[in-house]
Amino acid sequence: MTPGYDQANSAVADRLRISSKQITMFGQRFLKEGRLGGCPRSYAAWYVDHIRPEVKASYLVDGVKAHRVTDSLLKTGNMPEPALLEPQVDLTAEDCLPESKYGIWARKALVWMPQNYIVPVWADNVIPRRDWITEAKWSFPWTTGKGVACDIDLRPDACAWAPESMIELVDFKYISDKRYALTSLTDDPQANLYAAGLMYLQDRPWTNAHWIYTVKKPPHSAWSLGCVFKRGPTEQWIHDNLDATIELISVVRANGVHWEDLPGDDTACQGRGFLCDMADKCLELWGPKEPRLITLDEIVRYKNGK
Ligand code: SF4
Repeated sequence: MTPGYDQANSAVADRLRISSKQITMFGQRFLKEGRLGGCPRSYAAWYVDHIRPEVKASYLVDGVKAHRVTDSLLKTGNMPEPALLEPQVDLTAEDCLPESKYGIWARKALVWMPQNYIVPVWADNVIPRRDWITEAKWSFPWTTGKGVACDIDLRPDACAWAPESMIELVDFKYISDKRYALTSLTDDPQANLYAAGLMYLQDRPWTNAHWIYTVKKPPHSAWSLGCVFKRGPTEQWIHDNLDATIELISVVRANGVHWEDLPGDDTACQGRGFLCDMADKCLELWGPKEPRLITLDEIVRYKNGK
């Protein structure tokens, strides 16, 4: 068994469940400039207190619809049927027309899918075809270096593998501007976690990851950003870069604190609540209220191992 994994504990019902979104929202690492890269207060508002805006942000609505349309085109070649996808996300008949913006974005993205493969295999001259599994909802067990056990959500948009071949992992990113795209997946928490999870579940040594970006504004440029992940180094990267955040989140969950008990990192919102649903409430709290559980300095010191 790989040191980072603890399958025996995965059956424990109330154990911590973590997603890559939680980790990045809390702040996954100590960036050069002294930033966490996230905000513990906004993390707690969303995941601990379940505070949600009354009206879902349009970029979230677009993301859900675009992913559903992409999934349908990938699996069937056809646009989906209208449906209420989740509260406040109604995929309308108009959205389901091939010329809708979702249809256009999805087709731009799908051009970049890895071929559904003719793969050279090392045995028997077999040429297997990979069938894409889409919108899977899995998890895999993880134990940090300090012994915090959790299950990590694994939600690949598409993945595939054939006997004795690499895992192919695809994630679709619909963005408003090219500058929001990553330029490398090497240090991306989601890519590392998804690759590690798939390699664990399929017991494979390699994953070939493809992040397919599409810009929502015309001319809808699209491209694929790739990276090959190897199992041992990927697990070590998670230990080195994400364990501390997982451990801090476990402390937060175990102590029953609320969002205002945690420090805000206003560098995450450019000091003005940018893209933060808590901005109205939080702006009043930055100065006057000291966080109760832990301070920002203490979080930074913990992530530095001090
Ligand atoms: S407004 Fe800024 S500091 Fe406050 S919770 Fe949101 S991201 Fe954090």
